[in-house]
Amino acid sequence: MSKIILKSRDEIELIRESSLLVSKTLGMLAKEIKPGVTSLELDKKAEEYIRDNNAEPGFLGLYDFPNTLCASPNAQVVHGIPNKNILEEGDVISIDCGVYKNGFYGDHAYTFPVGEISNEIKALLKTTKESLYIGIECFKEGNRVGDLGYSIQNHCEKNGYSVVRELVGHGIGKNMHEGPEIPNYGVRGTGKKFTNGMVIAIEPMINLGSKKLKQLDDGWTVTTFDNKVSAHFEHNVALINGKPELLSTFSFIYEAMGILSDEEKPFKKSREINS
Ligand code: MG
Ligand code: MG
Repeated sequence: MSKIILKSRDEIELIRESSLLVSKTLGMLAKEIKPGVTSLELDKKAEEYIRDNNAEPGFLGLYDFPNTLCASPNAQVVHGIPNKNILEEGDVISIDCGVYKNGFYGDHAYTFPVGEISNEIKALLKTTKESLYIGIECFKEGNRVGDLGYSIQNHCEKNGYSVVRELVGHGIGKNMHEGPEIPNYGVRGTGKKFTNGMVIAIEPMINLGSKKLKQLDDGWTVTTFDNKVSAHFEHNVALINGKPELLSTFSFIYEAMGILSDEEKPFKKSREINS
């Protein structure tokens, strides 16, 4: 595993800029995601938007990935390749997007409903997103990687879902993937200690059915073995003054979808002013 590289405050601000551009890209896509569109159309729009903002797609060409977005509908967990399949009412699609700007990466993801979705899948998305914020709360000085992983795993398993093991969160900075690995499962009190200057991507991948996965012949797409739905939400978070601070935001998505939420409030920059 690649090593942990601590960041200066200036470097964290540059990562924030890249993360925010991903947030805005996802917000732009939120307006486009509806029955009848294809993930390839979304991919084109995302690439154009990122380049118009003087940045480069972070995934395109990374490990030879062919597109700007990882677009993973329904049973696909992550790393889905955009294609011409038409999204239908009741589908969900996980969109993971990366940006490279000023020498730093941003990387975050959201699972979008396509039109009206079933209550069963709504509940999966809700629990997965809750577990993301529970994980973020654990990213503080004194805690360890295992504390964060345990908190996500515990929340999802007690709600009856399963946690993907093969894919994990990661440090992020000048490289898309740096240390430490951030699994969404773990044992409390174990693993690397969190310290100020760490910047990580926390990204629970949670399945409705079994945690077992399979990989498609394209060499990229990871899907659930039982073909039941999977959800994926990802934020970039910095450890500053001993506490987690969000660098990415879902606010642009919520604005597009007409959702009111204060879920990010405890992790906003403004908190620093009082500390
Ligand atoms: Mg990602
Ligand atoms: Mg990631």
